[in-house]
Amino acid sequence: MRITPLASGSSGNSFLVEGNGCAVLVDAGLSAKQLTKRIETAGADPESLSGILVSHGHSDHVKGVGVLSRRFRIPVLANRRTWEAIQQGVGKVHSLEFFETGRVFEFAGFRVHPFSVPHDCADPVGFRISRGTARLGIATDLGTATGLVLSLLTDLQVLVLESNHDPRMLRDGPYPWELKQRVKGRLGHLSNNDTAQVLQRIVTDELQAVILAHMSQTNNTSELALNCAASSLTEFLDSKGTLCCASQDEVGPTIEW
Ligand SMILES: [Zn+2]
Ligand SMILES: [Zn+2]
Repeated sequence: MRITPLASGSSGNSFLVEGNGCAVLVDAGLSAKQLTKRIETAGADPESLSGILVSHGHSDHVKGVGVLSRRFRIPVLANRRTWEAIQQGVGKVHSLEFFETGRVFEFAGFRVHPFSVPHDCADPVGFRISRGTARLGIATDLGTATGLVLSLLTDLQVLVLESNHDPRMLRDGPYPWELKQRVKGRLGHLSNNDTAQVLQRIVTDELQAVILAHMSQTNNTSELALNCAASSLTEFLDSKGTLCCASQDEVGPTIEW
């Protein structure tokens, strides 16, 4: 399996997941034009995508879904409540398949488990995606790591996990009070410290790579996020585990396992 972050952060999120010649996007939160360019930079062909999995309805995850689906005839997969929330903005799509939160399904040779996450919109999910024995978890918008989330993020080889903000930068930063409360609330986003705690609880000998994602450009730096996560991953890093960041502006890094 292979994963390449095409973009991650509050201005747009998308991940390219590939395995055995099949490719899907998880979220498409940039313009179709930008996404097309980035899919090609990652070495894939937008025409060959089997589907776009949608985690939730916020625009930084769905901005390019409609155009991309129509232009390249790509099926869209979402749960019903997410689709109802985005339908008007996204418009007609090439085709639509509903999944049910909590129910595992097979798609393009991947085994996909969409699981419920606490976040402030209709029925948001994270994804656990596997192919053969290769297992990947993606959780980019979650206010709290519940027991369910922790159990589904354990036992993976590769994990994409939100590390949204540094609590001090958020507190002292320019966001209005209401937005600060939303971001740090239990339906908002994980701070670097929250993420470090999650990592401490889910790290296993099998884990090979952690990609930190959805980093705020206003309230975080990659250095702070990486340092904080590294404090929970001493043994993992000693045994040559990979810890890296997805960026808002650049494609990569690609992790293959
Ligand atoms: Zn969101
Ligand atoms: Zn988001």
